[in-house]
Amino acid sequence: MTLKELWQTILGEIELGISKANFITWFRNTKIHSKKDGIVIVGVPNGFTKEWLESKYNKLILKILRNNSPDIKDVQFVIKGESSSPTISQKKLPPLFSEDQLKFQEFNINKETNLNPKYTFENFIIGSFNELAQAAGRAVTKHLGTLYNPLFIYGGVGLGKTHLLQAIGNELAKKYPSKKIKYLSSEKYTSELVDAISKKGMDTFKNKYRGIDALIIDDIHFIAGKEKTQEEFFHTFNSLYQKNKQIIITSDRAPKAISTLEERLRSRFEGGMIADISYPDLETRTAILKSKLKEKEFEISDKVLNYIATNIQRNIRELEGALNRLIAFSQINEITLDPKITSQILSKIISIPKKKTNLKNIIKEVAEFYDINTNDLFNHSRKKELVYPRQISMYLIREELKSSYPYIGEKLGGRDHTTVMYACQKINKEIENNESLQQEINLIKERIYK
Ligand code: ADP
Ligand code: MG
Repeated sequence: MTLKELWQTILGEIELGISKANFITWFRNTKIHSKKDGIVIVGVPNGFTKEWLESKYNKLILKILRNNSPDIKDVQFVIKGESSSPTISQKKLPPLFSEDQLKFQEFNINKETNLNPKYTFENFIIGSFNELAQAAGRAVTKHLGTLYNPLFIYGGVGLGKTHLLQAIGNELAKKYPSKKIKYLSSEKYTSELVDAISKKGMDTFKNKYRGIDALIIDDIHFIAGKEKTQEEFFHTFNSLYQKNKQIIITSDRAPKAISTLEERLRSRFEGGMIADISYPDLETRTAILKSKLKEKEFEISDKVLNYIATNIQRNIRELEGALNRLIAFSQINEITLDPKITSQILSKIISIPKKKTNLKNIIKEVAEFYDINTNDLFNHSRKKELVYPRQISMYLIREELKSSYPYIGEKLGGRDHTTVMYACQKINKEIENNESLQQEINLIKERIYK
């Protein structure tokens, strides 16, 4: 593996752990200069980045480097092209906080559509877990605005929602070059809206979004509880919908499970096609690994692939991360992977002992998930939107901490143990036949143990 490939792998892993904005600001234009006697020298574009990486990211980078290549002892940063006598071009370098450096842009991403060409239908593997969502997405590209509108896709973290959305967008852009296609996350939509309000640019904002032919919004659950955003989005939605313009949305849960979504938006979302993405089965996980291997032009035995696919089940992003780590390890150390080595290398990822949690954390995450106050979980209000999260928190405390019913009752606002017992039994029973509740609880657990 060349140094360039090693750094690409490291960057891939860093990207998973930090925000996109941070990643682009601090890691763009970095590369490995050299690796000698266990010391890795990373070249960075300027002194500011150097300081920042040294103080904030040194540990993280070193840890990931070591995971990939255990012989590495230290990492150091140098300003690219630094030499004893500065060259003319260096003297002309822009000031530290140059505009360009702080602009969050990623190469290859189309500025108009925000689409990244690397996500396509061709490299999107289909299995029973995502078949419906994929087919619905394909259908939308053939009957723009007229068949499934809106198309609402939901599923847990790392299961391919963004990939699918982008694939739909890319296909649309290819098929209808003159149409206005726009992909963005609901967070970006919110921040543009806030910006427009503060700069009195609402007319521009409205015209921009109401003049789109296909509006693709990722992670809509982030607008839960944001009234102003929901209101404006409702108008954008209606305006597009009335003109038969296509709207495609993803979320980490079904519309009815987004508790603080305004009723009128919820019924709009439910008025189109809803498709979920669940967990891929073993066969599909193996197929995904094979396709990624092909992209990377690397070979791994079926036994090893099977080992990875058997042990990483719930997140395709993790599956990919594990594969990258293995490839890097095998290349650096010039080792052919077998299940034994694989299990050793992956032990850090796979057998992460279940991280610990506590009552306070569970309460916090449940409240955040349902967008209510933690106090609402302790008080005695009988409102349905509070009773239900309260029951979920009792259930989770019981399941995850194995606490006794009286203890849970006491901690959750001094309730009788029979109330807690009833809640746990009720949720336990409901889970059996209710797949969306299962997913909801899995999502909360993901947050509890994040
Ligand atoms: P989500 O948006 O649901 O969190 P992503 O779309 O970001 O998940 O997917 C995470 C990673 O897994 C991406 O690198 C993506 O390309 C890959 N991936 C997800 N689903 C598939 C699939 N069906 N086939 C191939 N790669 C996939
Ligand atoms: Mg996503």
